[in-house]
Amino acid sequence: MPELPEVETTRRGVEPRVAGRRIRALRVHEPRLRWRVPASLPAKVEGATVSGALRRAKYLLFPLEGGASEGGAGGVPATLLVHLGMSGNLRVLPSATPRLLHDHFDLELDSGETLRFNDPRRFGSLHLIEGDPAQHPLLRHLGPEPLEAGFDGGTLWRASRKRRVAVKQFIMDAKVVVGVGNIYASEALFRAGIRPGRQAGGLTRAECDRLAAAIRTVLAKAIEVGGTTLRDYVGVDGNPGYFRQKLFVYERAGDACRKCGTPVRQRVQGQRSTYWCPACQK
Ligand SMILES: [Zn+2]
Repeated sequence: MPELPEVETTRRGVEPRVAGRRIRALRVHEPRLRWRVPASLPAKVEGATVSGALRRAKYLLFPLEGGASEGGAGGVPATLLVHLGMSGNLRVLPSATPRLLHDHFDLELDSGETLRFNDPRRFGSLHLIEGDPAQHPLLRHLGPEPLEAGFDGGTLWRASRKRRVAVKQFIMDAKVVVGVGNIYASEALFRAGIRPGRQAGGLTRAECDRLAAAIRTVLAKAIEVGGTTLRDYVGVDGNPGYFRQKLFVYERAGDACRKCGTPVRQRVQGQRSTYWCPACQK
């Protein structure tokens, strides 16, 4: 499943190819994605210019300028919102490239290239937001971005007081902080020296500081290695960041901890596998 680092890697890959480009056509080959793509959507974006590529949590946002959706009085700003779901990826290809199975839409640009979405499981989505994207129901309730200023130990400290939920589930809650998937939660807790089963409310301020720093580190490292796989093919299905970075505990049950040699432990927590070192994590 594409996690935050893969989505950010995609954003960085596609942005220079789409920013400043005018949309010739949006061709939806399969509207039955996680939410059905309205038949009226393509006409609203044709002729608009993509002004950039942004990311919020695991959503990609393409702000548009001009086009039919801005035709009304006052000109409502519009944004295309894409989610990669469980198995989606975006590629920038010459428009004439033959479609593959599971290629569901093409955003054809005046450069002669197309932004093509492929998603075998169809849990991905495409929306047009007219108005402020931050107020969209899918985005409105999201917590802070882990890699932006404003997310730190204080964020975790304030949100965790009196919370009895296990710290691993706490940091995977998008209302607390977005984009910390199962792999990154285990890895961040290892780096911070905190056992995943502890109550969030029992963390000290110093532990919150260490944990926030660890979350930032694991995500930033994954983006770094994800970025090195980018060429013409902007994929999230080829070499996701977490397969290329050295994992300390994730999927290493029974193996020696890379720091101290103690066998790594595993248990199921909130229906997800959790891994930790009983010696390095308190
Ligand atoms: Zn250890």
